[in-house]
Amino acid sequence: MSAKSNKVAMITGGGQGIGEAICKRLAKDGFSISVADLNEINAAKVAKAINEEGGSAIAVQVDVADRESVFSAVEETAAKLGGFDVIVNNAGVGPITPIDTITPEQFDKVYRINVAGVLWGIQAAQKKFKELGHGGKIINATSQAGVVGNPGLALYCGTKFAIRGITQVAARDLAKDAITSNAYAPGIVKTPMMFGIAHDVGQAAGKSDEWGMETFAKNVTLGRLSEPEDVAAGVSFLAGPNSNYMTGQTLIIDGGMQFH
Ligand code: NAD
Repeated sequence: MSAKSNKVAMITGGGQGIGEAICKRLAKDGFSISVADLNEINAAKVAKAINEEGGSAIAVQVDVADRESVFSAVEETAAKLGGFDVIVNNAGVGPITPIDTITPEQFDKVYRINVAGVLWGIQAAQKKFKELGHGGKIINATSQAGVVGNPGLALYCGTKFAIRGITQVAARDLAKDAITSNAYAPGIVKTPMMFGIAHDVGQAAGKSDEWGMETFAKNVTLGRLSEPEDVAAGVSFLAGPNSNYMTGQTLIIDGGMQFH
């Protein structure tokens, strides 16, 4: 791993899946890492693995649906790691929601985590960057399902389209503070979330989990599903200096599912 840098990145949902891969990749890039997750145990495991590899990481518990919790996670990160430069608003949930099954409770839950969670992350990061007297980078998780509507995913797609809109507005509103705002749109990534979706799709069709996964794989131009590390590589670009002249954009890292 690189020597400890004075740049700090906080990744929400860093305890598993894509978030875990982003934490490990940005640690290799030289960032000090705040692994922020609802699941404290997983966050601690990821932070421990990074520290054992010679990186610098802490685990922070956060519920992104709770504004106070997000602000305090950013505070704790900056206090313990001595700075704040990048936030990756990665935490999200992806339930299967055919239109006729959606309940108000489900709507509130999914929008609070996926959309409000990103908004609170943007607000808390902006406040911290301002306090520290410098700009920073905001990076938000959308999806190929935030670029084109996917069947059975009305709630999820709605939230992921919303995140692209919020990313664009943040780019325009915060440019004066030297803050860039971009999003990444993964395709079908081998994570616990995706295995859960494949299981549900398979069950609904009376078929296996593998069948569920294959239904998603068939539209991938590169002919394989995504590893979490494929996405982390794109986020590494968005977090580093090579993307300095880029804001308001969605980087689609989906093996060629959606051409936009
Ligand atoms: P995952 O379910 O495997 O991991 C999500 C992590 O977020 C978990 O560690 C979980 O504890 C955490 N989390 C959930 N709710 C939280 C909350 N309220 N506060 C804090 N942490 C919370 O998911 P993943 O597949 O790694 O997905 C990560 C992001 O990438 C999500 O935003 C997802 O929508 C997006 N994405 C995933 C895929 C895919 O194929 N897996 C595709 C496109 C986009």
